[in-house]
Amino acid sequence: MTDDPASLDLSATEMRAMADATVARVLAHIASLPDQPAIGDYEDVVARCRALREPPPEAPTPFEALLEQVFDVCVPCSYTTSGPGYLAYIPGGGVFPAALADLIQDVTNRFTGIWHPAPLLVQLEANVLEWLTTLMGFPPSTRGMFGTGGSAANFSAIVCAREQRLGPAIRDGVMYASTQVHHSVVKSARLAGIAADRLRVLPVDEGFRLQVPALAEAIRADRRRGLRPFLVVTSAGTTNTGAVDPLEVVADLCAAEGLWHHVDGAYGAFFHLCEETRPALRGLPRADSLTLDPHKGLCLPYGTGALLVRDGAALRAVHAVAAGYLPPQGDDDVYDPSQYSPDLSRGAPGLRVWLCLKVFGLARYRAALREKHELATYAASRLAQLPGMTLVAPPVLSLLAFQLAPPGAPREESTRATRELAQRLLARRRIFLSGATADDGRFLARICILSFRTRRPQIDLCLHEIEEVSAEILRERG
Ligand SMILES: *Cc1c(COP(=O)(O)O)cnc(C)c1O
Repeated sequence: MTDDPASLDLSATEMRAMADATVARVLAHIASLPDQPAIGDYEDVVARCRALREPPPEAPTPFEALLEQVFDVCVPCSYTTSGPGYLAYIPGGGVFPAALADLIQDVTNRFTGIWHPAPLLVQLEANVLEWLTTLMGFPPSTRGMFGTGGSAANFSAIVCAREQRLGPAIRDGVMYASTQVHHSVVKSARLAGIAADRLRVLPVDEGFRLQVPALAEAIRADRRRGLRPFLVVTSAGTTNTGAVDPLEVVADLCAAEGLWHHVDGAYGAFFHLCEETRPALRGLPRADSLTLDPHKGLCLPYGTGALLVRDGAALRAVHAVAAGYLPPQGDDDVYDPSQYSPDLSRGAPGLRVWLCLKVFGLARYRAALREKHELATYAASRLAQLPGMTLVAPPVLSLLAFQLAPPGAPREESTRATRELAQRLLARRRIFLSGATADDGRFLARICILSFRTRRPQIDLCLHEIEEVSAEILRERG
């Protein structure tokens, strides 16, 4: 570093050395992913966290020591979310070009909150939103936003629906979702000023889908009470079991009743790209708004969600504010990010999506998603043949749920055996499954195949592990 004590600049040589050291670490990390345990060593983890605490650093630390701390101390104690054996929750993976897009944005540090300071860079983001609009079958009136994730997208959608349908009379408004809706919707409703007693949580059918007759009845009952039903949130792929709500039927009901229909497609919307899975998402293009998570379905690293709103003017109306001190805002001809989302200063969240889509091309993404769907179908058929195993939720997209118990087994018995299965699989640390709790309290094990690194060999390994462990448990039980 220079002798100038107030300079934060680095020489080209220094920057290259730091970048090279980082890239070397990163590539070694990627190469080791197949051999990394599915979950790191968590022994004494709280004590180890405490041991990391330190006072604010007054003096500089050599870069290599910092890389060592991050890569050798911190990263290994974690879930291997970018590894091929990660079948838990909703995997993403973290395709590499996104990291390069972040580097470019971080270094150029252009201001993309408003159109004028970087109009052509912002246009790249606008292009991606237009592509998503086309790909999801939305009309040209659609506008959208990029944000940090599905939660932020759900939040903006709910605020938009509230503003459009209720105006200032928030307290009378009622919204509807199923028991299987993602918890970010419950949180978003609260943040949006919709109190808990104005959120109706409705039952699901045997396929974990929202029961539409119950929805229609709830809407009628609320109208009789003098309340104002305004929003239905459905899921295009629930996080628990991958169920897709009857989107088309709900779209009809919402149209007839004048309700806003928001589809949470954070997990599943990108399966609309593939002909094989598109029929399962019938009705999705009719939504008033749609949450997408590029950091799930497009395998980007964490940090990028998206929202599309069919009536683009509604999205703009709820976010746009004027400020005299800022550069000129764009008119309707150009896309002005801060007029369509809560953020002002931000990175360029669309740049990483743009770069990945351009580098790989859509055909390759389609093939990858199709493969995940096929792998899930394959896994389900093999699982269903295992002794004592019941496929509770067959894969509609790429997620399946099962229990280590016969179909009608008592809840406690089924939960005990299935939990045991999940725990022993995790203890072996080769694959990572997570579970979900059904409405009746039953614990279900689930496999979600979405990481681009998960291919047939990992699924075979997963099936092999499940076969061994479940046989072991059944044997012990006699
Ligand atoms: C992951 C997920 C969310 C939340 O998205 P984040 O990107 O984690 O904020 C919302 N809904 C569904 C269905 C999800 O799977």
